[in-house]
Amino acid sequence: MEIIDSHLHIGNISDTGIVTANEVRSHLTAMGVANGLVMPIAMRGGNDDWETHKALYKEALALDFDVALYVNTNMLESSKDLSHYLTFPFKALKTHPDAVDFSDEQIERVCSVAETNGLPLMIHTGADDCCHCERFRPFIKNHPYLVFVLCHARPSNEAFPMMREFHNIWIDTAFLPFRELAANISEDIENRILFGTDFPANRWFPHLGKENEWYQRQIDGIQDKFPEKTAEKILSRNFKKLYKTTAI
Ligand SMILES: [Zn+2]
Repeated sequence: MEIIDSHLHIGNISDTGIVTANEVRSHLTAMGVANGLVMPIAMRGGNDDWETHKALYKEALALDFDVALYVNTNMLESSKDLSHYLTFPFKALKTHPDAVDFSDEQIERVCSVAETNGLPLMIHTGADDCCHCERFRPFIKNHPYLVFVLCHARPSNEAFPMMREFHNIWIDTAFLPFRELAANISEDIENRILFGTDFPANRWFPHLGKENEWYQRQIDGIQDKFPEKTAEKILSRNFKKLYKTTAI
């Protein structure tokens, strides 16, 4: 099976410098992962540098990665339909409302741009008011033909009931505890779950231990604990279905 990681980062992970697409590719190769979707890591408060991002996207595409356009509010101010930035063959848009404050109007605009361009919209979700899954209910309801990928599925007691209610919701498994996934998975939603790790964001959390061992646990948690058919969907098939990737 070709394992595909739907949630990977490039860029400024720390003060120590930039994680390049080349480094991410080497990591995946070492882990036996066929491919992935990469995006720049969100900077707290914004001020991401588009020139840096452009160089990262170019390198990632040259290495056959799929790429998502990381959208912050500055970009929406300078190019309302994001046409200035939609210059690469992006597979999705990504926003991080916990790193940058998004008004409802700005989220609505990102939804419209994603829908107009036929791209799924990845949203970071978390426990806070700015980014818990239910915050996005009105947008999900108003855009039934737009795919929302609720990254991390947080909190899971909102994410899973919403997935059953709205068929345009997908989730990824990045930092989603396996016991929560196992407790909530069912046939009606297993076609909309993507394997994702958030690598190399694990470097922010030293308690996760050695990088390769942590990463392997993310694969094993799905491969060993779910029926083969389900594991294959999450680790590979669902990604191909959603992004119709040509990279593999
Ligand atoms: Zn992430």
